[in-house]
Formats: sequence, C-alpha cells, structure tokens
Amino acid sequence: MVGAARTRDVVVVGGGPAGSALAHRLASLGRDVLLLDRAEFPRRKPCGECVNPAAVRALDRLGVLPAVLAAHPAPLHGWRIGAGAEGFGGSFPRGESGFALPRAVLDRILLDHARAAGAEVRTGVRVTDLLRDESGAVAGVRGVDADGRPVEIPARLVVGADGLRSVVLRRLGLLKRGPRLRKLALTAHVTGMHDMGGRGELRVRGRECVGIADVGDGSANVTVVVTGGHAEGVRGHAADFFDDALRRHGIGAWRVDDVLATGPFDWPIRRAVADGALLVGDAAGYYDPFTGQGIYRALHGAELAARTVDAALRAGGVTSAALAPYDRARRRAFGAGERVQHVVEGVVSRPALFGAVAARFRRRPVLADAVIRVTGDVSPVRSLLRPSLLARLVW
Ligand SMILES: Cc1cc2nc3c(=O)[nH]c(=O)nc-3n(C[C@H](O)[C@H](O)[C@H](O)COP(=O)(O)OP(=O)(O)OC[C@H]3O[C@@H](n4cnc5c(N)ncnc54)[C@H](O)[C@@H]3O)c2cc1C
Repeated sequence: MVGAARTRDVVVVGGGPAGSALAHRLASLGRDVLLLDRAEFPRRKPCGECVNPAAVRALDRLGVLPAVLAAHPAPLHGWRIGAGAEGFGGSFPRGESGFALPRAVLDRILLDHARAAGAEVRTGVRVTDLLRDESGAVAGVRGVDADGRPVEIPARLVVGADGLRSVVLRRLGLLKRGPRLRKLALTAHVTGMHDMGGRGELRVRGRECVGIADVGDGSANVTVVVTGGHAEGVRGHAADFFDDALRRHGIGAWRVDDVLATGPFDWPIRRAVADGALLVGDAAGYYDPFTGQGIYRALHGAELAARTVDAALRAGGVTSAALAPYDRARRRAFGAGERVQHVVEGVVSRPALFGAVAARFRRRPVLADAVIRVTGDVSPVRSLLRPSLLARLVW
C-alpha cells in the first residue's frame, strides 16, 4: 500500500450511469468525491442501449444532454413487439422520445461529466471489500489497482454503484436471495440492418427474446435473451448461438464485435442503505431487462440519493437512519414499475398467453401505447387502471 489515503466525503464504486450521475451531483454540491471503476473507459456494457424518454429527461436535468446528443444517438419513438403479422406496435406520446447509443459512448460522456464537476475518477481499480470502523459502520473501501497493488481508501460514505453483481451489496449482506428467474443475455453490434424507422423491435419466440435497436452510425444493437435450462446450454458457445439467433429470427445483418454474455438478472435486495453506505442503480436490485428501464432507474435513483446524502453529510452522520429517506423515495419511485416488470415477464414467458395478449393489442393499439408509455416511464403505472382502458382490455 502506498501512503495513507485521505478520508473522502464519498467514495463511489462504479462509473456506470448511476455512479457517474451521483458523483456529478455530489461534486457539484462541493463534496470531495472519488469515483472508482475496475474498467478502463471507454468500455462496453451488455445492454440493449435504449435510453427511454424519462431517462432523456433525467440526462437533461443532469446538464449532460447536449453532450450526449452531440454523439448522434439514433431516435427511438416506440417499439414493435412480437414477430411479423403476430406482432404489435406502441409509441411514446407526441413530443416524448428516447434514443439509442452505444454504452461505450454514453458512459464515457457521463464519466467525463462527473469529472468536470470536480469528482476525481480512478479507473482500473477493482473494489474487493469494505473497511469498517469499531462500531461496524462502513468506513471506506479496499481494492486492487491496475498494477495489482492493494489500495485502501477511507470515506464517510461508500456508494455501491457497481452494477448487477455488486460487491458492495454482497459485502453489506443486503442481498435478499439468489435469482429465481434464470436468464442469460448475449449482446453484440451488427451492421446491415434494414431502416427501423425510429422503432426498437422485440421479437419473442418461445423462451427466446431478441431486442434490436438502431444505435446510429450504421450499426444496431442486438440482444438475445434466453431462459432457464436453455440458458445453461449456451454458456461457452455464445458467439455461435448469437449468430444462429440472427438466422433463426431472420435478421439479415452481420456481427461486428464480440458477443458479451451476462445473467442472471434477478437480484432483489432487502434495503438500499446501511450505516456509512448506500446502493444505487442495478446494485440496488434488478429483475429483468425486457422493459429497458435500467438507465432511467440508475439516473433517477442517483437524483434521489443525492438529496439524502447531502442532507446527511451536512447533519454530520451518514447512518442507516439518516439515509432511510432515500430508501423510501426509491421504493415510492420504482416499486409499482417493478411489479409491472414482473407482470410483463410473466406474460412474455408464456407463449400462449403472450399470443393472446399480442392479438388483443393488435386490435386495440391504444392498449399497446399505454403499456409502452408506462415502460418508457412517461406515464404512471396507475394510468393502466383507467376504466376506459380496462374496458378495451376486456372487450
Ligand atoms: C441484457 C441487458 C439489456 C439491457 N437493456 C437496457 C436498455 O435497453 N435500456 C435500459 O435503460 N436499460 C437496459 N438494461 C439495464 C441497464 O444496462 C442497467 O440498468 C444500467 O447499466 C445500470 O447502470 P449502473 O450504473 O447501475 O450499473 P452499470 O452500468 O453496470 O455500471 C457498473 C459499473 O461498476 C463497475 N464495477 C463493477 N464491479 C466493480 C468493482 N468491484 N470495483 C470497481 N468497479 C466495479 C463496472 O465496471 C461498471 O462500469 C439492460 C440490461 C441488460 C443486462
């Protein structure tokens, strides 16, 4: 270990959208923030790379939207779900749209934005454990730098923004259980796709789902998600399986980079706060990527956390009790949406049910629009309970 590191106000573990957004906000408030990421940027991240309309607004509130738009993302006005004549389409409301952009580009812009606000960013540092004080409260992080040297950094608050397989979550002991929903996702970029007309596509066939989105610059993101025992058979053959999936789904395009594999996704947590620590983004629990809301939740979760963290630091104690308002705000903001994700997964994973729902949505496009708006986080979940909409579902 080289010298004793000074005690930071906040150490953020992870420089994805959640970590960069929170680091930006806290540094802008004058806090001494150190952000650590094990990767060197730009780095790829397995993701459908679609930024929904609410996430676009969150980028705007963060002050980074002009820089993101300058990278020429492809517009996203809605989704087409299902295959061919069996499918249905839904649109975001007029004036609301999302976009798609490679995560290597988006995440680097967000990281630079945090740095510009005054956060110190150190890449190539893998956090392996938490430091504790004599009372057991989290007091910093321990890890390994890019040269394999051990590092120890004391902090008043540690933020776990380290994604799906968060080390911070596991060291805090806040994981509720292991995943019940067992899925594996394979992601790569392709070229040669037809013009998608500003719509993403989700093709569902049996226990396999393929998401396709134009990400600008002549390429598209293709993400293949497989379920259950099927997923186990794919491990070790990811590239062949992916290329076969392009053929199986009639996608006339060619892969231009390596296939990234990830899964399972279902990692529920007991709570997102502890004495001296807080979780944000995927580290604060995840379920299923089908509805593509993770980037919004990462950015908005960071907004909610920043308010509570600043107040707690000002009051002098980042105890679990002082951080609890964030945990409550998260549940209020995302709880209903998580239940919708469970319902959507339940429908998509039952081919007969999915076929019946798709047929109903084809006849009643207003229903499809309503669901796409909720999963785009532009309409509240309760909008699905409007009597006029429920009547259309029944008749
Ligand atoms: C297959 C798939 C498709 C998806 N498609 C979409 C989509 O289209 N739209 C959407 O909005 N969401 C989508 N999501 C979800 C979205 O990718 C995540 O919700 C989002 O990336 C969460 O951001 P984050 O900042 O919490 O975590 P991440 O983006 O995962 O960032 C975590 C960071 O932490 C770093 N890290 C991890 N461990 C350590 C460690 N020990 N030490 C230091 N650094 C560490 C990593 O290098 C990484 O940079 C998808 C997810 C999957 C799996």
